[in-house]
Amino acid sequence: MRNVYLDNNATTMVAPEVIEAMNPFFEEFWGNPSSMHTFGGQIKKHIEHARQQVASLIGADPTEIVFTGCGTESDNMAVRGAVEARGEHSHIVSTRVEHPAVLAVCRHLANHGCTLTELAVDSQGQLDLDELGGNLDGDATIVSIMWANNETGVIFPIDEIARIVKQNGCILHTDAVQAVGKIPIDVRKTPVDMLSLSGHKLHAPKGVGALYIRKGTRLNPLLLGGHQEGGKRAGTENVPYIIGLGRACQLAAECMEEETVRLKALRDRLEAGILETCPNVTVNGDRKHRLPNTLSVGFKHIEGESILLMMDDLGMAASSGSACTSGSLEPSHVLRAMGVPFTSVHGSIRFSLSRYNTDEDIDYVLQHIPRIVERLLEISPFGEDPA
Ligand code: PLP
Repeated sequence: MRNVYLDNNATTMVAPEVIEAMNPFFEEFWGNPSSMHTFGGQIKKHIEHARQQVASLIGADPTEIVFTGCGTESDNMAVRGAVEARGEHSHIVSTRVEHPAVLAVCRHLANHGCTLTELAVDSQGQLDLDELGGNLDGDATIVSIMWANNETGVIFPIDEIARIVKQNGCILHTDAVQAVGKIPIDVRKTPVDMLSLSGHKLHAPKGVGALYIRKGTRLNPLLLGGHQEGGKRAGTENVPYIIGLGRACQLAAECMEEETVRLKALRDRLEAGILETCPNVTVNGDRKHRLPNTLSVGFKHIEGESILLMMDDLGMAASSGSACTSGSLEPSHVLRAMGVPFTSVHGSIRFSLSRYNTDEDIDYVLQHIPRIVERLLEISPFGEDPA
């Protein structure tokens, strides 16, 4: 049986080159970078090299990169830190389709004095930019809008969003956890103030992330303590993982152009094959503005979890809804916000590819999916779609 991993928006395999780069920092260079002695102090320059590698992938200056413990921490630090720097009566503008790492912190702050506006999306998962503009009110407004959606892969027009937000004098954070390493990002051209990224979505380990903070952005730290990361993020640095994140960013930069074309071709073949061979299936989200690696499809009248279990028996891994909500049968908040009919939300599957997927992987999935869908439709307890 073949093993086909198509759940790369949940997490990715750590690249062998990344492991190789990290190993010396477990085995040999394990000192504390804050130490006075050479044993620890010499490690600082390796952290700075990693910072340079991360910065270079997104067009930032290395001094604008703060290493964090994960994408969630970066998101929390950006939104919470910006609110704290402005006072608790800030207005936060975000969207209904953000990852819980943003949604939860915005809702928490709304329970503690902030005003929160969650912008709606249309059936394609896209925002109404006039509605965004109408909600902006100077420096007291903090906008947090993701670059690309983890469930559908839909890419928001972040250049346009940044232009509108900056014209109105507001501060803009973007959760680019799913975008970094998959599509070109250049903060010199896209004037976001803060940008979150996470190691385990681009072939570095879980448990390391970074926050880009544009020079001059007012932000309070989330973690207080030592002077690490220029006082912006206290805590002894996770040296091997930071080194791994740097190497992963370098690899992503090297292969992005080629991989974008290859992955898009694989994803499009998967999409076309499923649409051709399975009845009552729809693609979720804006197909034109989408990450090259992501496909979200809704199979009407079937439980997504049943498809996943049958796929799992045949060695295939995908996801129903977002990684962070799978395990609970709560319908996806993203698909609900898009108005996807109830019967298709429950039968939605996300396939997400990486540079380790091959043509043979797609052949294997296309060989088995139609039969899985056919069998499940035979035993489907659902009636006709009322929507
Ligand atoms: N933001 C988005 C869009 C994500 O997809 C994820 C993880 O799935 C996160 C934030 C959280 O990142 P981490 O798992 O590194 O905390």
